[in-house]
Amino acid sequence: MSESRSPLFEAFAKEGIVRRDLLLETLRERGIQEDDPRLKQFIKSLNGGSQEISESQFQILADQNPTLMKQISEDDLIVPDFKSFIQEISAIFDEVNQIRLGKLPTYIPQLERVDPDKFAVAVCTIDGQRFATGDSEDYFCVQSCSKPITYCLALEEQGEEIVHSYVGREPSGKTFNELTLNAKGLPHNPMINAGAIMCGALIKKGGAPSDRFDYVMEKWKQAAGGQKIGFNNAVYLSERQTADRNFALGYFMREKKAFPLDSELLDVLEFYFQCCSIETTTKSMAIIAATLANGGICPLTGNQIFRPDHVKNCLSLMLSCGMYDFSGEFAFSVGIPAKSGVSGAIMLAIPGVGGITVWSPLLDELGNSVRGVEFCKRLVSRFRFHTFDNMLGQGDNRIDPRRCKK
Ligand code: GLU
Repeated sequence: MSESRSPLFEAFAKEGIVRRDLLLETLRERGIQEDDPRLKQFIKSLNGGSQEISESQFQILADQNPTLMKQISEDDLIVPDFKSFIQEISAIFDEVNQIRLGKLPTYIPQLERVDPDKFAVAVCTIDGQRFATGDSEDYFCVQSCSKPITYCLALEEQGEEIVHSYVGREPSGKTFNELTLNAKGLPHNPMINAGAIMCGALIKKGGAPSDRFDYVMEKWKQAAGGQKIGFNNAVYLSERQTADRNFALGYFMREKKAFPLDSELLDVLEFYFQCCSIETTTKSMAIIAATLANGGICPLTGNQIFRPDHVKNCLSLMLSCGMYDFSGEFAFSVGIPAKSGVSGAIMLAIPGVGGITVWSPLLDELGNSVRGVEFCKRLVSRFRFHTFDNMLGQGDNRIDPRRCKK
């Protein structure tokens, strides 16, 4: 008896039948998780149905997300061998986990109270393949990792020309909160405090502070594929109370007439403290990083959150200015657009591949997570993820996990 079956069914079937548990295992192996918003209806129907799925039942299921099912069946996800990829990531995690160096930041009291041993790594590819290890569901405040998002939101609203008439795009060569402006009396770039305070002033100008905050939270949530985004009020209060330097930066910029005309300095500063106090998990931040790596489209929803040209601008500045005073060294030796925060997070966006977030609170003297930086170094010692690795061609033995171009 020879029946002609659909290739999609064949790809998932064994002896003429698809088994629910094996189907779920295949998805998991490819990095597609059961809580993936793209598969909401699919998983619901699957769980409500029988263990053995006939071709016609399977077709109804697969039709709910034909593109993703086809990608899975044809090994056409950006990292086809996801299993080997995450084995390497886990190996790096285990090596780096041995490191116990660094200090908690003391200048924001709440940050000093975090468990210093926490450590998590999470990955999300541009096709929504996900993996996480360690304390990846713990919430932490994003601190300076908010800066790329604030910058993108300012660009979305005002466009490049206006935004960059208020903030430069040169590395400052100074610490992130240094009391300094460029020769035009403007912040050097959006990745340091002065620049992020300025970008915040350009978002929903003149709107009520509550509406502006709601708007930013909603954008964070969208970029994270609908994952819950939190807010740490204690960090916010603590930050506001110890913010002399940021107040000084604000007054300095006001004295230089750097702000847009109708800005209320106190509102602008409060907004900046609130953005730093947004809380997320390593898992969710990896999705946000993947949205950046995917030209502004969230891999888990397919929604365009930021314009691709704005993301290009943002990644350029993350590469040149995202790692405090280590930015030049990091761009040279790691070569991945990244943003670091004093809560110990590093958000990496590997263009066209995906996002990776590392979180470990102990910091080096420049304010970057010790384990985070070490993880990044080891990542590029194994994988061809440096932005300019394609220069190396044949002689490079490191892994390139991306699917081969068809
Ligand atoms: N809220 C911190 C500050 O303004 C951000 C520091 C950081 O993560 O770089 O000082």
